[in-house]
Amino acid sequence: MSPATGLNLDDRQRAMLQEMGVKVWLPKTSALPDAQTQGAPDGARRFAPAPPIATAPLVQGTAAPEAPVAEKISAPLVIKPSAPSALQNLHSAQLGWLELQKAVHDCRACSLCDGRKQAVFGVGQAAAEETQAPQVDWLIVGEAPGEQEDRVGEPFVGPAGQLLDNMLKAMQLNRQKNVYIANVIKCRPPHNRNPADEEIAQCSPFLHRQIALLQPKIIVAMGRFAVNTLLHATVADVQKLPLGKLRGQVHRYVHEGRDIPVIASYHPAYLLRNLPEKAKSWADLCLALETYRSL
Ligand code: URA
Repeated sequence: MSPATGLNLDDRQRAMLQEMGVKVWLPKTSALPDAQTQGAPDGARRFAPAPPIATAPLVQGTAAPEAPVAEKISAPLVIKPSAPSALQNLHSAQLGWLELQKAVHDCRACSLCDGRKQAVFGVGQAAAEETQAPQVDWLIVGEAPGEQEDRVGEPFVGPAGQLLDNMLKAMQLNRQKNVYIANVIKCRPPHNRNPADEEIAQCSPFLHRQIALLQPKIIVAMGRFAVNTLLHATVADVQKLPLGKLRGQVHRYVHEGRDIPVIASYHPAYLLRNLPEKAKSWADLCLALETYRSL
């Protein structure tokens, strides 16, 4: 077992990390070499908490510069003037889980509703009762549905979703157990363009209400839009900071009396295009695990 991460890495998990593009130097036996005396890279140290992780590259290779989350096609941005809607009263309305789902599916507050096949609410462990939010410890927050998510009605079902599933497996989690996955934006932006500020303003109250009902113990924010949305109250000028400067530390989501640790990390779609960054992402997941275990 790695003392730094508490992870038992069996052959299957090693294979998953390999799938993520992360080289693991942990020896297969439990007798770890002393990191101080061994010249060879040591997995336990390299997977240690935030500061060492943030400064020590985990794979050989040069990190690519940060890029937008997904392949974005320039498309004219048409934004309907915001409709005063149930959204604006979402917090005071205190919608329950089923009412919230209906509000998302019926929402016509911005022009994204015109192009969607369906709104994508979220996915995760089944709730004990249909009317209640599932009781999960982990919330993963992404950006917005893409083409496949729009068709299937579930977040992260395309290639980025496969990588996310592998990341969860490497953490000994999965989307059916103790995890919920949601996006900031519930309807697919045309041509997978970035969500506009106005769309985020209209849609993010849904996410805040999901968090209020799910009461996760920890949140992993994947990509710029999730990070900005969750941390704007606690990190000054968060939108001006590169993601690379926000990762590697434990932030707080503070909203209406809730205070939940947030780990900022790269979006899986970005990782698919920037393979060396997967190692940093794995370091972020280790930080998330350590934070969770310390709660
Ligand atoms: N990217 C996201 O951020 N969310 C999805 O659901 C799919 C891709």
